Amino acid sequence: MKTCGRRPSTAAFTLIELLVVIAIIAILAAILFPVFAKAREKARQVSCTSNLKQIGLAVVQYCQDWDEATMHANHTTGYSWYRPLQPYIKSDQVFRCPSMSNRGTTTTKTDYLVNGVFGHGISLAAFQTPAEQIMFAERLGTVEEEDYHVFYNTAEFELDALDAKRHFDGSNYAFADGHVKWLRWEQTLRPSGDIHTAPTMHNRDNIPEP
Ligand SMILES: [Zn+2]
Ligand SMILES: [Zn+2]
Repeated sequence: MKTCGRRPSTAAFTLIELLVVIAIIAILAAILFPVFAKAREKARQVSCTSNLKQIGLAVVQYCQDWDEATMHANHTTGYSWYRPLQPYIKSDQVFRCPSMSNRGTTTTKTDYLVNGVFGHGISLAAFQTPAEQIMFAERLGTVEEEDYHVFYNTAEFELDALDAKRHFDGSNYAFADGHVKWLRWEQTLRPSGDIHTAPTMHNRDNIPEP
């Protein structure tokens, strides 16, 4: 009778069999670890979205309490835009992006930069298309800034303060209507495509420098 080459059940594994099993486990690990890393980053991105959502809603609430006008930051005195929002948020952690790994020696207490258009007191009525106007973007870890200026008529740009690739190939952005969206950098430059010559999502209504 044929035994199909099967050894008695008491036989131990041969060295080759063990090596094959170890090799298979190593290959599986190599395939799965990047997947796990991606899943963890995805979770951090969702957490960041939630932070920006809370900050955006805090601005909307603040405006309701202060005659439709946004908060007034003052670079000279060091009065930050997030201070008047704190009563609506009551947390320092909300201003931290969980994916920011390198803060260098910066002491800035926020990983999110308010668009300068909003950071120096402006009526929300100034915006024709709030759903297409970026209100908050993500700070580059090594840059000591609290807002970014994009008043294109004055050629004052601080776009290098932004991290355009915080989460995978893009970053999270909070808009003036309170919604948050992950976008690639080029997508934020709609509709004109060139922030230096015509309005984009960073200054949709071409608001002049205050
Ligand atoms: Zn983030
Ligand atoms: Zn400013």
